[in-house]
Amino acid sequence: MLPYGRQSISSDDIEAVAAILRGDWLTTGPTVTAFEDAISAATGGHRAVSCTSGTAALHMAYAAAGVGPGDQVVTTPMTFVATASGASILGAEVVFADVEEDTALLDPAAVEAVVTDRTKVIAAVDYAGHPADYDALQPIADRVGALTLDDAAHSIGGTYRGRPVGDLADVTTLSFFPTKNLTTGEGGAAVFKDDTLAQRAHEFHFIGLVRDKDRFEITDEGPWHQEVHEFGINYRLTDVASALGLSQLARLAAFKQRRTEITARYNAALADVAGLRTPVQRDDVDPAWHLYPVRVLDGRRREVFEKMRERGVGVQVNYIPVYWHPVYAHLGYQRGMCPNAEAFYAEELSLPLYPDLTDAQVDQVVETLVEVLA
Ligand SMILES: *Cc1c(COP(=O)(O)O)cnc(C)c1O
Repeated sequence: MLPYGRQSISSDDIEAVAAILRGDWLTTGPTVTAFEDAISAATGGHRAVSCTSGTAALHMAYAAAGVGPGDQVVTTPMTFVATASGASILGAEVVFADVEEDTALLDPAAVEAVVTDRTKVIAAVDYAGHPADYDALQPIADRVGALTLDDAAHSIGGTYRGRPVGDLADVTTLSFFPTKNLTTGEGGAAVFKDDTLAQRAHEFHFIGLVRDKDRFEITDEGPWHQEVHEFGINYRLTDVASALGLSQLARLAAFKQRRTEITARYNAALADVAGLRTPVQRDDVDPAWHLYPVRVLDGRRREVFEKMRERGVGVQVNYIPVYWHPVYAHLGYQRGMCPNAEAFYAEELSLPLYPDLTDAQVDQVVETLVEVLA
């Protein structure tokens, strides 16, 4: 079965990890710092804090932003559950705003309609690798005193109006899961324009430990002393994972180029196929395509999904609207709330897309899809 996504591991990647295993540091050592610096350089130069997953990055970012009971977080339902659940687990109320009909990205007009003075964060998702419309979202956030968050689990390497992902929102979160644009196995990071938020995130993912003498409340202990001011979690990434991440980051531009080529090949082959809609791209955006989300019309998505899988093409569906998850339904969220997201979900089918996919395999996916639709 051709998977819908998978990692690309080179012999350099393997060597980089093996070198760490032969060295002194397995976990928080110099390679974590080097990886964070490299992430920062690739995402606009703001401080990056690494962690154990994209889900952890969202939890850490919301915690650093002070999200809690009484606050609202406005986000898109067309995402992986963690974009919303990272705020819910801190006691905030998640408010879902609908997506644009064509891009499936958070619609600034829908956000405008639901923000209040309790809105703490507006969290967009660069679905499929295509950045959302931050120049429209940021003024709404600024007006109500909220932060913008870019869940960029799909989009590291992309740009919007010439600015890199990482520089588009106040906070940006990344995932390094194997199917994403680069991998550390499990892993993630958050990038912060504000250094105070970055330091809070750093401490949150480091069990809440404060190591800066000038901030100690207990001042009569010895040189071993460190103390906790706010609760935190151990979300630390390891040197082993960071070595893989550093090596992968050096390949990010090549990964992006290959993903762009495959996307163009699918677009050209599928543009005129009846019963399909191919993904749209805004003029001012250079996406880092993570998914190729084709839309299967005429109520045939499930049938096409099953027939593609039977024929060895491991298509996927991304995503069930987040508020359909029972955990949100039990809280009273109703189906029908975001019609564009629900219509998109009903048609969406992710075709295989990853750097090592060959042109012949892309053509095989296209032929299979055309045959199934005929
Ligand atoms: C993958 C993903 C996450 C979570 O990342 P993990 O590393 O799998 O925890 C969050 N948001 C989006 C949009 C994702 O695709």
